[in-house]
Amino acid sequence: MNSSFIGKVDKARRYAEEKERVSITTFKANFHGNHGSYEVTFNAGDWDCQCHFFVGHQACSHTMALQRILDEVLAREATA
Ligand SMILES: [Zn+2]
Repeated sequence: MNSSFIGKVDKARRYAEEKERVSITTFKANFHGNHGSYEVTFNAGDWDCQCHFFVGHQACSHTMALQRILDEVLAREATA
């Protein structure tokens, strides 16, 4: 490993401690719930889940669990 790459690794280690630098704007996840697996998406602050509960409530245990997991790095307008 050359010295410039070692510098990048050190910088990445410091950045990883400063989560406010990151705003996730879109992602897709597979969520393995107790009763099945669902595809959950997040796009510009909007959540979507394939489960039946989400259709009626615009939120579900899967999206809420992911909000908790990713709270520090989701785009600011989405967590406000
Ligand atoms: Zn769901």
